[in-house]
Amino acid sequence: MLRQVEKPARYTGGEWQACDKREVFFRLPEKDRIRFAFCFPDLYEIGMSNLALQILYAALNKDEHTWCERFFEPASDMREQLTRENIALSSIESGTPLNAFDIVGMSISYELAYTTVLDMLHLGKIPLRSVDRGEQDPLVVAGGPVACNLEPMAPFFDLIMIGDGEELLSSVTALYRAKKQNHWTKRDFLLTACQLEGIYVPAFYDVTYHPDGTIDTIEPNVPQAPRVIQKSIINDLNRAEMPLTPIVPNLNVVHDRMVMEIFRGCARGCRFCQAGFIYRPMRERSLENLSEAARTLFQQTGCDELGLLSLSTTDYSLLSELLEKLIPCAEKYHVNLSLPSLRLDAFERDMAEQVATTRRAGLTFAPEAGTQRLRDVINKNIVEEDLLQATDVALRNGWERIKLYFMLGLPTETDDDVDGIGSMVNRLITCWRNIPDQLRTRRFFINVSTSIFIPKPFTPFQWAAQISPDVMRERQQRVAAALRPNRRVNYQWHQFESSVLEAVFSRGDRRLADVIEKAWMQGCVLDAWHEHFRWDIWEPLLSEIPGGIHFYTRERSLHEQFPWDHIQIGVHRAFLEHEWQRAMKGKTTPACFEQCSHCGARAFGGGVCFEPPRTSSQKDIWT
Ligand code: SF4
Repeated sequence: MLRQVEKPARYTGGEWQACDKREVFFRLPEKDRIRFAFCFPDLYEIGMSNLALQILYAALNKDEHTWCERFFEPASDMREQLTRENIALSSIESGTPLNAFDIVGMSISYELAYTTVLDMLHLGKIPLRSVDRGEQDPLVVAGGPVACNLEPMAPFFDLIMIGDGEELLSSVTALYRAKKQNHWTKRDFLLTACQLEGIYVPAFYDVTYHPDGTIDTIEPNVPQAPRVIQKSIINDLNRAEMPLTPIVPNLNVVHDRMVMEIFRGCARGCRFCQAGFIYRPMRERSLENLSEAARTLFQQTGCDELGLLSLSTTDYSLLSELLEKLIPCAEKYHVNLSLPSLRLDAFERDMAEQVATTRRAGLTFAPEAGTQRLRDVINKNIVEEDLLQATDVALRNGWERIKLYFMLGLPTETDDDVDGIGSMVNRLITCWRNIPDQLRTRRFFINVSTSIFIPKPFTPFQWAAQISPDVMRERQQRVAAALRPNRRVNYQWHQFESSVLEAVFSRGDRRLADVIEKAWMQGCVLDAWHEHFRWDIWEPLLSEIPGGIHFYTRERSLHEQFPWDHIQIGVHRAFLEHEWQRAMKGKTTPACFEQCSHCGARAFGGGVCFEPPRTSSQKDIWT
């Protein structure tokens, strides 16, 4: 079968540092061992680039009682063969069918993976809906960034994990072992599990609706289930698992590099950014923890690039010191350091010189909006001078390509804001021209990329509307027309239909589950892939919902109950509402390390909320 598919290495396993416990694991009594299927609902190349996979795989396999194996969605050629031969989707490590596992864990990073989740369950011969699964079927659980509102997928999961997954998953596997040892039913297990922090059992909550389709109540239907589910959090990130012996894939994956998470959460508060709020408070790893980890990674993997990951890497309080420690070691092992999430206002000469010693590839900045007015609305606390200065520094330090990200359709956006994108790009080109010939690159090139704004739960913009498809098209064309005359600029934009679907799901409720299942039955899968996306299937199905697409993309009233109101992510709804109102007035809010805005995340008892103010030398980085 492998001879007939493209890239058989997607399915063969045997990668360097993959975990094969066959020798020892099966010596344990059956009741003492948990087989955990880590499912990533996308292709191997995407899943193997995902840091959460490496973290949770390492954390689970540390436990001698648990063997975590990987599953990915097969590409269409392999999928056809599995279906034709009636072979169940099997694990990469041991070739065990999905339905033979105790726990199936879906790691969901984006809403457009929903139909792929169903496809993997189906290929693994597991009933899709929780109510249709019996005692012999695996427990199906989910986690990941979208878990904070997985209501559209609620009927398909037995249990959803909210918050940091490392320790939470260990609690779930330990409890499941107790279930096996004590012969509990699945329901007994779930009644106990739902009392753990961060565990949400959708079946234990009833949702009622007003006649206009908005939510009336969300109430627990068993006494054990809490009224509000509190997210799970690891306050001291140094305690969290760092995958020091990551699996090294045998084929090229999207991000072919080692990665270190230098901090979790974000202190900035960009009002459109869900990750910036749901992972609060910002928690850093120590300098010692990171430099030791880097040394081990250099020795263990043989990769030639180390990514320092976070939501905003230049906000790490000791970044200069960290680079000073890492660069000599990186040079010794011929490893390039990459800083994927740079803030414009923090990209300074010293840092450019430090990073430039290891790599001069393209630099990516995200101004997000074309005018200062709109950047204030979204709380992107940068000014155009930051971008001009960062570009000047980059060009004088050998960079040739700059990538700029913008978002179209942000709340209050006007034509002037859209035109501001073209004006900003023109000023960057002028900046390049103003650098003396001998100091600048001749091959300067700017990639401009726009995406469509999607209102997300747990952000100040959770009340905002998404612009209509007609306006999306018009604004994309406006940017394209402004940038077209310039041969140093390339403009990329995404198909807007998938942004509409993402917007429907991101603020969706349980009634969408039927639509998702119908779409999957009609052939929708891998919806995040342009070549697989079937708007011709989705659009008529979504139009059948009372209120249609507009019901989910409309502006929400301040009093409307959200499908996710029973989840406590740490940031209070009142704070988000206050931020929404400040946005409408164009008022900005400072970052946590400048001034606390009392969002509510302080209640977790850790992170930036409790750190002493930064010293003046550290502050240099943020000026
Ligand atoms: S409580 Fe204050 S410091 Fe802590 S995350 Fe919220 S705004 Fe930031």
